[in-house]
Amino acid sequence: MYLEADVDTARLIDQQVTILGYGSQGRAHALNLRDSGFNVVVGLRRDGASWSKAKADGLVVKEPNTAVKGAAIVAFLTPDMVQKKLYAAVVDDIADGSALLFAHGFAVHFKLIEPRADLDVVLIAPKGPGGLVRRQYEEGRGVPCLVAVHQDATGNALPLALAYSAGIGGARAGVIQTTFAEETETDLFGEQAVLCGGATELIVAGYETLVAAGYQPEVAYYEVMHELKLIVDLLHEGGLHKMHKFISDTAAWGDMVSGPRVVNASSRAAMQTVLTEIQDGTFARNWIAESKAGMPRFREMMNADLEHPIEKVGADLRSRMDWLEE
Ligand code: NAD
Ligand code: MG
Repeated sequence: MYLEADVDTARLIDQQVTILGYGSQGRAHALNLRDSGFNVVVGLRRDGASWSKAKADGLVVKEPNTAVKGAAIVAFLTPDMVQKKLYAAVVDDIADGSALLFAHGFAVHFKLIEPRADLDVVLIAPKGPGGLVRRQYEEGRGVPCLVAVHQDATGNALPLALAYSAGIGGARAGVIQTTFAEETETDLFGEQAVLCGGATELIVAGYETLVAAGYQPEVAYYEVMHELKLIVDLLHEGGLHKMHKFISDTAAWGDMVSGPRVVNASSRAAMQTVLTEIQDGTFARNWIAESKAGMPRFREMMNADLEHPIEKVGADLRSRMDWLEE
């Protein structure tokens, strides 16, 4: 694990770092790097919604082609599906021997981008959303990061990436070395099987089971959606050990005898299939095709998610939880 002491930030201090995209990660990286003393330029479309936001934050904002000129590092912090087109649009303006940086390996690992041979190609992936990357930095802390090198044209790719990770605060928390393949495949698997797909499906299935059995929707909501945060906080702070210390013996016994009946051999087989389809490129191919088609299924499934009865009950109950506004 690399810490701040292992990093030479001086190698970036007088150089230009260009951030393409100003969304969740882009804004956090740009502001943190600027506050760390780096020379930051943000590259955005002039008619896009982020342009005025980045300006209002006091950053230098240019159109992508102009923004990449003279940059030591060009960070691609736009949605993954946009990166191929954006790379094609700016590649001729990127200086010889500069570096491309990604926060997720998707576009490079699945060969949507095949970078010029003279460029370093690195990954700094914060293990948290952009808002947290910014907030932790402002509090003098940092979100841990992964670092990887896909192409080391200059022989300096790793120290350069580490300097960037220190600039966004990641080196305060620790930076672990990985590969583009490992970061991309585990990240996709995590969000699909556990974090986003798995967890929400578990919540909704639990809610539907209780409501179908005649229990009140409000009680079901508190039980399977609201209280999940308390458990996740315990897991986050102290793993299974801390959770078991704080829940009742009855809850622990129920966890151990019933958990494996819900997430059972067939759920595990499904997880393996999800992983295989990530590894063999099936998932990427389908997602790229969906994106090219204008995302009809994406929108249809998203609407179904957002129109689920648990959303209405939840909005009602949450409107009475004053503390959520903070
Ligand atoms: P986002 O959707 O929040 O932001 C997208 C930004 O890109 C916006 O500023 C938008 O205006 C800009 N943009 C869109 N199209 C553009 C174009 N053609 N030219 C220039 N700018 C354009 O994106 P995000 O969620 O921050 O994701 C950025 C990268 O970070 C992705 O590779 C993602 O996988 C990775 N990542 C995200 C998170 C996260 O928490 N959101 C965490 C780790 C890694
Ligand atoms: Mg879901």
